[in-house]
Amino acid sequence: MSERSTRAFAQYPYLARRFAARLPTLRSGIEDRHHAVVIVGGGIVGLATALALARHGVPSVVIEADDSVCVGSRAICLSRRSLEILTRYGAARKFLATGLPWVGGRSFYRDEEVLHFSMPHDENQRLPPMINIQQYYIEDFLLEAAESSGLVEVRWQSRISGICASKSGVRLSIETPVGGYELDTEWAIGCDGARSSVREAAGLRLRGTSYEGRYVIVDLALKSARQTERLAWFDPPSNPGSTILMHRQPDDVWRIDYQLRDDEDPETAVLPENVIPRVANHLRMIGERQDWSPIWISLYRANALTLETYRAGRLLLAGDAAHLVPIFGVRGANSGFEDADNLAWKLALVVRGAARKELLDSYSAERVPAARENLRQGMKSTEFMSPPSFGFELMRTAVLGLAARQSFLRPLINPRQTQAIRYTDSPLSLSDRTTWSAGPEPGSVALECPVTLCDQEAPRFGHFTELLAPAFTAVCFTENGRPPEELAMLAVSAGAAVPLRVVGIAARQPSAPVPACGWDHTGRLTALYGAAPGTVYLFRPDGHVLARWHEPATHAVHLALQRVLGASAPEKGP
Ligand SMILES: Cc1cc2nc3c(=O)[nH]c(=O)nc-3n(C[C@H](O)[C@H](O)[C@H](O)COP(=O)(O)OP(=O)(O)OC[C@H]3O[C@@H](n4cnc5c(N)ncnc54)[C@H](O)[C@@H]3O)c2cc1C
Repeated sequence: MSERSTRAFAQYPYLARRFAARLPTLRSGIEDRHHAVVIVGGGIVGLATALALARHGVPSVVIEADDSVCVGSRAICLSRRSLEILTRYGAARKFLATGLPWVGGRSFYRDEEVLHFSMPHDENQRLPPMINIQQYYIEDFLLEAAESSGLVEVRWQSRISGICASKSGVRLSIETPVGGYELDTEWAIGCDGARSSVREAAGLRLRGTSYEGRYVIVDLALKSARQTERLAWFDPPSNPGSTILMHRQPDDVWRIDYQLRDDEDPETAVLPENVIPRVANHLRMIGERQDWSPIWISLYRANALTLETYRAGRLLLAGDAAHLVPIFGVRGANSGFEDADNLAWKLALVVRGAARKELLDSYSAERVPAARENLRQGMKSTEFMSPPSFGFELMRTAVLGLAARQSFLRPLINPRQTQAIRYTDSPLSLSDRTTWSAGPEPGSVALECPVTLCDQEAPRFGHFTELLAPAFTAVCFTENGRPPEELAMLAVSAGAAVPLRVVGIAARQPSAPVPACGWDHTGRLTALYGAAPGTVYLFRPDGHVLARWHEPATHAVHLALQRVLGASAPEKGP
């Protein structure tokens, strides 16, 4: 568990909305309504899951212990993949308007620059590779989007104090300042963070590594003209022996994280009289001469832990409740968005009775290996930031000392920023039966590319992923943008419970509007997907490839969907 010792200053810039506790209508102390889904915890992952479920048409109740969105300095780096997910749920606008896109990063050893990288970006992308934005903004914008869906009810100042199985699912005991009550739900999702009570009730234990090294997290108000880059200093002259990270955030807020020495007492180290001189030394060293003031100080210790399963009967776990990823590599909240995206469409199908509940096991089967990959990368970054042994330290000193002149060593300093993870061994994906020259393999996320959207009289510039709905999407590459009739009819016969959209990619500009059609005006999309007229890619509602075929395989698409849904047998037991 992350250890934090926190202090907020008068200049703390964010005035969060505060919400009162309230009780639902009760009968003998039990809520008179039975819920399909209750989410425990209204942090990033709880709110993202509620929003995602709402976009799939499923209402939920969020039970949140606090009276507002988070306070303090936690996640700031939001990945392109998280922005893609938010875009698909129609909620990205405020994130993009407020967040600061990264240009790249620089690392220094003592007073020498040893690494300069640009963020991966190419002409096909519509979203920045990474933005910096404070966690309170992330939660507030998610809350707004969830509230405006009309399908999410957040109950503030409501703490889960008991969880047990009930005849129809799960019974939760809830305490609030205005009284306690119980409620029944078919499914409960634990998004209640590092100290999750849902995890405890499920009898599950986090396993992995906890690191000893501690970091001081300082937010400060500073007007600086520096770019939005990830800046890292190893053993800097201003703070010998330490590692310092610096990030720009919106509203002229800067974040500085610095490593404590092993012999420093953490509680003393976070006192302002000890923090302020260190930050002042650092700012002086990098030439920032203007006035600044502290906003927030806290303490952080890295953990690399995950559960071995994220489902225990009717209890599901997501975000920090399921895994704790070191902050170096920025995968905590970002992987939580992917958990929410993965879980929501599956749970929506199950709640609607369109899929068997065993579909939810694939959530675990896909997201546990994803967490392990995130942990592997996060641990490499953590061990480079604060070497756990003398051997690591020697290796790091050698790499840093030589990297300025030996370019082959620089990738070892690279902070390994988060990327979308392919579900390599997913039980849902259909493996390729034929060879492909290019394109995302089953389990991978859709590749982005500009297209011309041709569904209206005036064609307009857009991007491929705009054609992917939060539904299954069969994308057929064609000459004229019109998929074969048989494939188009499949969307109708699938019915409302299994939303399927059929999209055509036109090789030539259509002469009249075509519904759900993109014209590959550059030819790059067809090449990127290794496609030819007749190629079909079937995407899942979370934008991962389920299967692909070289010919318009209507029956194969139907079977691939059936495989995901399973036979719709009546449900019995948990
Ligand atoms: C210093 C720092 C920097 C970070 N930087 C990044 C970054 O740049 N990028 C990134 O991706 N991640 C980052 N992270 C990680 C990120 O903050 C977390 O992964 C993320 O907040 C997890 O969200 P969550 O919703 O799962 O849990 P939380 O944010 O912990 O939310 C859990 C919620 O559950 C509520 N709750 C708890 N118990 C109960 C209960 N019994 N009943 C009801 N409600 C309850 C809590 O009040 C809370 O609101 C950082 C973390 C730290 C500490």
